[in-house]
Amino acid sequence: MKRRSLITLSIAAALTIGTLPTWGGSANAASLSELKEKKESISSEKKEVNEKISTKESEINENISTQKDIKSEIAAIDTKTRDTENKIQEKAAEINETTAKVEKLKKEIAELKKKIEERNELLKERARAIQEKGGSASYIDVLLGAESFGDFLNRITAVNTIVSADQKIMDEQKSDKESLESKQKEVEEKLASLKDAKADLESLKQELHSQKEQKAALFKQLEKQQATLEVEKEKLESHASELEAIEAQIGGEIQAEQARLQELARQKEKEAQAQRQQASNSGGGGGGSVATPAVSAGTWTRPASGRVTTEYGWDTLNGSSRYHWGTDIAASGNVPIVAAADGVILKSHYSSSYGNVVYMTHSINGQMFTTVYAHMSGSSVSAGQYVKKGQRIGTMGNTGYSFGQHLHFELHVGAWNAAKSNSVNPRQYVSL
Ligand SMILES: [Zn+2]
Repeated sequence: MKRRSLITLSIAAALTIGTLPTWGGSANAASLSELKEKKESISSEKKEVNEKISTKESEINENISTQKDIKSEIAAIDTKTRDTENKIQEKAAEINETTAKVEKLKKEIAELKKKIEERNELLKERARAIQEKGGSASYIDVLLGAESFGDFLNRITAVNTIVSADQKIMDEQKSDKESLESKQKEVEEKLASLKDAKADLESLKQELHSQKEQKAALFKQLEKQQATLEVEKEKLESHASELEAIEAQIGGEIQAEQARLQELARQKEKEAQAQRQQASNSGGGGGGSVATPAVSAGTWTRPASGRVTTEYGWDTLNGSSRYHWGTDIAASGNVPIVAAADGVILKSHYSSSYGNVVYMTHSINGQMFTTVYAHMSGSSVSAGQYVKKGQRIGTMGNTGYSFGQHLHFELHVGAWNAAKSNSVNPRQYVSL
């Protein structure tokens, strides 16, 4: 259903509700079928709105579960990031260690180079010393300087010893230097690979960071979407409750209209019955039942058929003088008591003085009246019930402080009170 049609209906409903208290003006009231049609369309719109609400609810639930997923994804990224950071720190420590090793090796190599240089210096000095001894600059001169074969052999041995010892030291030092250099190369390679690994880890960390940012943005977006969905859902819910209220109001109107129609039918039936009764009474001459009094035109009507036995005002009862706050009407047989005017039943109960009594309130041209119908054998109405003028509310009886079957009828301009200060002579309003 389109929104426009709802508004039209709402206004129509409000207008109808506005006319509710005016029972008499049935020209304004919507017919029962119109009301039922209206209720039907409101119900179907309410159903549609409720379906939309449940769609929104499932959208919200889906959104929340996606939010949860993203939260746990972000948590996983955080864990991975922490892990990566730890690894980066480990690599950094290894790099420091390895750098230190490289530095140490460089130092060792430098020391070794220095030793080799010193050794070279030493060898030069030895050569110089031999020169001085033999007057020659070379080992050949040393050998050629021999004075005998024995001396020659001695010199060879000496030179060999010096040469081989020096050679050995030189070889050792050279090999040491080579091994140190290869070790340095190895460590430097390791350092380079550590630096590579660290760089990889840092780019992974960067990647994780941007992943997290993306997820966080998505999460924010979902939160916003959720808020929008909640607002939409609230709107739908308030629309649904509006429709619910309208539906209830129309339901009340339907009930009232049905009650009115039923009452109308009852009234008609009663009139028909009364007519039949009257016909038989006039033929038979005095039966058990007395007819409902004819409803007079105007606001008020006589509450019961019968003879006025006691008037309103000062009176003598059982030998003592008293003020009589109402008018007594008596008749024998089954005598219906009717509402003296349109109104609402205020109370219908038993009291020791009034017996079975009904109180009614009437609003007539802006003035409130209260009527009291006492000593009934029983009543057929209950509090809150709306009753039309002339509608039966009970049967004449002899209950409570009563001596003989009669109706004690009171009329108050305003509310009833125990002092009966608002009571008036019913004859001022009702023709009895
Ligand atoms: Zn009385």
